[in-house]
Amino acid sequence: MHKPIILIYGPVGSGKGTQAELLVQKLGVVHLSLGDILRAKVAQNTPDAQVIKDYMSKGELVPFHIVDDIVRQRMEEPDVANGVVFDGYPRALEQAMTLVKILQDQGKKVTHVIAIKLGTDEIIERLSNRRICPNCREIYNVVSEPPKVEGICDKCGTALIKRADDQEVNAIHERMQVYQEETLPVRDYFAKQGLVHEFDGNQGINELHEQIYKIFE
Ligand code: ADP
Ligand code: ZN
Repeated sequence: MHKPIILIYGPVGSGKGTQAELLVQKLGVVHLSLGDILRAKVAQNTPDAQVIKDYMSKGELVPFHIVDDIVRQRMEEPDVANGVVFDGYPRALEQAMTLVKILQDQGKKVTHVIAIKLGTDEIIERLSNRRICPNCREIYNVVSEPPKVEGICDKCGTALIKRADDQEVNAIHERMQVYQEETLPVRDYFAKQGLVHEFDGNQGINELHEQIYKIFE
């Protein structure tokens, strides 16, 4: 049996990070969020930090050699043997080819592709309501999933913030456009292999999770 190698697709704000976390809890797979890994590099001021920050703040894809190196190195660590859920990768056909190659070298392949659908108005509304914990990365929505105490993370007590690229309308539009032009072709590539399962993102976190989890039962 192949261990699950799952890709989650959805436009910005569709809840793919949250759904990935729920799959981690149920399936024991490792969560690889490229967005989180890149933000951590910026915070730690690694040699690539300034380049990464410049691209992210504009909502553009960071140079592929940077993300490819991250994925290649991460896939060599022992904990990925139980399976992986990728969130935010691959985001362009070229990245998909790189991933297919990395997996092939390890005798693995993509097993499930989850595609979450969400309309434009809903995306804009969700992003303006989204807050994240800069410490533990928990995600909140001030309207639909608020923290118990306003502005404070339930899990670790840190003050919540708005992500830098969620504050800028231009960056949001850029991310939506990149998704349409670069990322949707990746989903279509895997759809041709019959791997894609589509879900309506306009529903509660738990309802959506239950639908997604069915494909693993
Ligand atoms: P969202 O899906 O809401 O845009 P993410 O946290 O997944 O948020 O990604 C934020 C930003 O990180 C992207 O706009 C992009 O600049 C960068 N990024 C994430 N994943 C990749 C990737 N696979 N390749 C290049 N850049 C990426
Ligand atoms: Zn926290």
